[in-house]
Amino acid sequence: MVDKLLGYEDAIKKYDPTFGIEVHVELATKTKMFCSAHNPAYDNNLDNLANPNTMTTPVSLGLPGSLPVLNKQAVEYAIKIGLALNCTIAKKSVFSRKNYFYPDLTKNFQTSQYDEPTCIDGYIDVELEDGEIFRVEIERAHIEEDAGKNNHVGGDTGRIHGAQYSLVDYNRAGVPLVEIVTRPVKGAGKRAPEVAAAYVRTLRDIFKAIGVSKAQMERGNVRADVNLSLSSAESDKLGTRTETKNVNSFASIEAATKYEIRRQAAILDDGGKIIQETRHWHEDTSSTSSGREKSDAEDYRYFPEPDLVPLIIDDEWVNRVKATLPELPHIKRSRLKKEYQFSDLEMRDVINAQAVDVIEATVKERALPQSARKWWMSESLMQSKDIFNGSESNDIIYVSPKQIAQLDNLIQEKVINDKIARQVLEAMLNGECEGDPQKIVEQKGLKVVNDDSVLINAIEEGFKKMPKAKDDIKAGNMGAAGPIIGMVMKATQGQADGAKVRELIIEIANK
Ligand code: MN
Repeated sequence: MVDKLLGYEDAIKKYDPTFGIEVHVELATKTKMFCSAHNPAYDNNLDNLANPNTMTTPVSLGLPGSLPVLNKQAVEYAIKIGLALNCTIAKKSVFSRKNYFYPDLTKNFQTSQYDEPTCIDGYIDVELEDGEIFRVEIERAHIEEDAGKNNHVGGDTGRIHGAQYSLVDYNRAGVPLVEIVTRPVKGAGKRAPEVAAAYVRTLRDIFKAIGVSKAQMERGNVRADVNLSLSSAESDKLGTRTETKNVNSFASIEAATKYEIRRQAAILDDGGKIIQETRHWHEDTSSTSSGREKSDAEDYRYFPEPDLVPLIIDDEWVNRVKATLPELPHIKRSRLKKEYQFSDLEMRDVINAQAVDVIEATVKERALPQSARKWWMSESLMQSKDIFNGSESNDIIYVSPKQIAQLDNLIQEKVINDKIARQVLEAMLNGECEGDPQKIVEQKGLKVVNDDSVLINAIEEGFKKMPKAKDDIKAGNMGAAGPIIGMVMKATQGQADGAKVRELIIEIANK
């Protein structure tokens, strides 16, 4: 069934969107939340190689009689997340059983936190692409465990419909999670979809910066559920919400939010009612479809987990964790902007291109900030930048910040000029000389011609061919130097230092 959609502008004029986002982040601890099984989210590459059901113990398989033991490192990561999100860390938090049956969770309940979560009442400031700041309030961040994965085999879509059979892989069962829940976000109006995506991006950057997760969206390390409701522009009564589950890229979060606004607006316009339900996001068609009717909390029959004592976190522990927190991304950005003397626009472009960290690493290797910026913002280094940011490489030759700094140093030391540097970079991207710019320059004989006698000869040859140029330059018409510079560049295969050639031309013309 194809949903009826209202145009976005119309929908926004008539209705005010309120959204809330739940983000699940997989923690990169060595072992799982409640047992010593390997955690596939510790190293995404290992996860690639692991056979199904090899990262399990009786606890993560939910076998009778097995007992959970809380992972201390996971608690520390949760505290780190809470502090980074300006939350209060509860002195006492309690684990609960959230009861439901799914084949990928053999215990028949998820161990989670309910009425006493570890982190409460936080906020983060989210910067939109044009620099506008929007504050998102966080209600809670609680500790829980992931479920396994169902693999539906034999259909076209990988979904259960049309599948011939299903296989269950319990490697992910028991992976440590922190779930972060916002308060309802109001007042974003037309920009609600943007704010939703920027919020999750900000969280992702924080997870990465504080080292609690590999934070790769495409690997499901960070997953978002988007709740959305509309109220009519005149009333401030909240409408019925839908929850779109597992929207796993920034672009999809924006698109799914927009889609739900348009879909719900069309229903309300026709005098219909929104059904409280979960919805699936379809990447291929950029649309949502109905899932199950949403359970209310009471359907889960939460009750305290009798196999785990309450979690007590004292101030000393919180302070110890606080001392390990690195500089947070938004603070680092404003510091670097000042240090590097980037303009507002330059910095915004760098942020939007996810190039802050790679530029910082390159400057640390002694490149000039402005050149590091220019190199990493260029098209040719896009894939290397993505690999630096944690994307998997597909046989792409990776050029590192150190190599770019070396390339920049060769320019600073006038061993090569800008034009030749681009040639050297091309060779680096082809993997020549293991990407060592110095070696490439030597092997290809690309050094700038610094031998004055070679340059003087070439200039004099030029003046022989264009004697008038000499008089023009003498008379102060520097435009006449252009063709001579061109001839010198030609004679040196482009390897002359332009500024130096200019100097020598004036000198010789005035002799
Ligand atoms: Mn959850």
